[in-house]
Amino acid sequence: MSKKKATILATAGVAQDKAFGAVAPPIHLATTFAWADHTEKPAFDYARRLNPNRDQLISALSELEGAAGGTVTASGMASIDLCLNFVGPSDLVLAPHDCYGGTHRLLTAKSRRGLFEVEFVDFTDEAARAAAFARGPKLVFLETPSNPLMRITDLEACAALGREVGAMTVADNTFLSPILQNPLALGCDVVMHSTTKFISGHSDVIGGAILAKDPSLAEDLAWWANCTGNAGPAFDSWLTMRGLRTLELRVRQQQETAMRLADVLYADDRVSKVYYPGLPSHPGHSLAMQQQAGAGSMLSAELAEGCDVRAFLGALEVMTLAESLGGFETLICVPDSMTHAGMEENARREAGITPGLLRFSIGLEDGADLQSDLLRGLDAAARS
Ligand code: PLP
Repeated sequence: MSKKKATILATAGVAQDKAFGAVAPPIHLATTFAWADHTEKPAFDYARRLNPNRDQLISALSELEGAAGGTVTASGMASIDLCLNFVGPSDLVLAPHDCYGGTHRLLTAKSRRGLFEVEFVDFTDEAARAAAFARGPKLVFLETPSNPLMRITDLEACAALGREVGAMTVADNTFLSPILQNPLALGCDVVMHSTTKFISGHSDVIGGAILAKDPSLAEDLAWWANCTGNAGPAFDSWLTMRGLRTLELRVRQQQETAMRLADVLYADDRVSKVYYPGLPSHPGHSLAMQQQAGAGSMLSAELAEGCDVRAFLGALEVMTLAESLGGFETLICVPDSMTHAGMEENARREAGITPGLLRFSIGLEDGADLQSDLLRGLDAAARS
């Protein structure tokens, strides 16, 4: 039976416990599993390769993303690093010039050690995109909406270009979750998530997932995860499954509030720029509405000249100044000195990340309370 996403979320792994009939999936902490016969490898043999909790999470996420399978890793970065096992010293890797700072740092550091060549590209610029693909990359890393400027990349066009040149396309779908975007359906080979964010949703577990449409690529990903030992622990998979149950409800509610706050920021002349794909003024708005099932709940903004960022942050009573995103709580961060500090300064400026840029991850608080918090911050920023 083909299930809707809400049904997948509510039924994954439920009432499958053969030992006791437990309805909620139990945690299996065993590191090793008994063999019935020494020549027949059981489905679970050693937990570095697979354990029942990780298996359940991989299946649920694969169903949500339309993947054949893949693996669950110890963090989002571990999933990104896993892809790098598919390239060698003579290979070219393309990545967005404004990708997550940790991704930028990893690709820069490994390319400097001669493990591959990397080129950071503005995929929203068609000429730059065509020129980069013409160089014959082996791996193309995509992130849309991008972090932190919410630039929208055409996944279908990039996947088609990738197929033409024989590149593997990997989409980081962390910002939207499988509820709002499915890159494999748009032609990408691989989709990855920092499950630390929306998928687990409660800011209490670090994890990643990487999934492929093609069964043999999915197997390769799982093989590399076992080989390099970067798979996620059983408890983390169990906790992530627990958060996953409410993914759709959280994502929809958070998106509704984000739209409201984006409108408030856009209408306020103490704010000079708002980056939110749900606003018709956003340059990627129509593409976002085409390839996404909603605008999501991440947005960025810049205060107008003369408004003080420190005063704005100091006046907030509901939002928390912290890195990360996608949890139940609203977080605000200054990417230049926080999430993207791992990028070199010139790379940050080139990507459009300024010291005054604020990034918001909208949570589940009451929308009116969040709106008052924003206005309190803006009053303080303009006064100082
Ligand atoms: N991808 C994106 C878009 C992110 O925002 C992050 C972390 O913030 C990562 C990947 C890395 O994930 P993790 O922190 O789980 O390693």
